Amino acid sequence: MIFGGKKVYNGNKKMREGDTAVFLEKMSYTEVESYLQRKDTIILITGSTENHGKHMPLGTDTIIPFGIAQRIEQRLSDDIIIAPALPYGVTEDLKGFAGTISLGTELYTRVLTKVLNEFFDCGFRHFVVINGHGGNSKAIENAGLEIYRRGACLARLDWWLIAGQLRPEWKGGHGGAEEAAGVMGVDPSLIKKEYIGLGECIRNDLGDELPSTSWNACCFKGGMVTIPRPIRDITDNGWLAHGMGNDEPSKATEEWGREMLDTMADYVVDFISAFEKVDTDHRK
Ligand SMILES: [Zn+2]
Repeated sequence: MIFGGKKVYNGNKKMREGDTAVFLEKMSYTEVESYLQRKDTIILITGSTENHGKHMPLGTDTIIPFGIAQRIEQRLSDDIIIAPALPYGVTEDLKGFAGTISLGTELYTRVLTKVLNEFFDCGFRHFVVINGHGGNSKAIENAGLEIYRRGACLARLDWWLIAGQLRPEWKGGHGGAEEAAGVMGVDPSLIKKEYIGLGECIRNDLGDELPSTSWNACCFKGGMVTIPRPIRDITDNGWLAHGMGNDEPSKATEEWGREMLDTMADYVVDFISAFEKVDTDHRK
């Protein structure tokens, strides 16, 4: 069905113009049942609520994948369902900054596994996870392995890594230019420009012989050594993209962000058409 040049999923009944049909929370169960008669793919968004520096919102890791999902909705219309985003993730080392909330790997694995199993019971078999936060990765792998054994398949797409692989100049780290551009691509007013040039404010919490360089790391005689510790001990600001190339958030632009989100949406759409051909009945 076409409304204003835009195709929307209508199930068995007419929808209002502008309805966002592919977001699960806006659909009725009959529309989901109708979709499941012809497809079994669902997109999940895994984010985090955590400090990204004074210049960035706490929801950065959810806001950007959701922005990609909104663009996927524009491209795929009635050919995909997007589940509600999981806004909490695994971010133990950023605790200590107000507003940072971590479920921890064990609980997050259980939550995600339960959600996947519920979707499996509905009839979904292909799970496409657009992940916004590196701390979630292990839990997503744990849950993915579990659902695979039931006869399904999960793909984790770490948007920031893939974007940096597609376009090396986009490569970035936590709170740097790549993420700042991603947020600008969704809503530039979410970036606090007065803090954008502040820098990482890294202090040598381990002493001058072991200068801190990035996440959990320090440098010794040219080698990178990992010393796990709260990020709050390394920086008062809370963004750390050091060692990720030229990832100063001051270089981010709205145009970069929009192009990057569009590129990622195209990538995910193409990926889904390949992924849907994967046979999920591994027990044959
Ligand atoms: Zn982030």
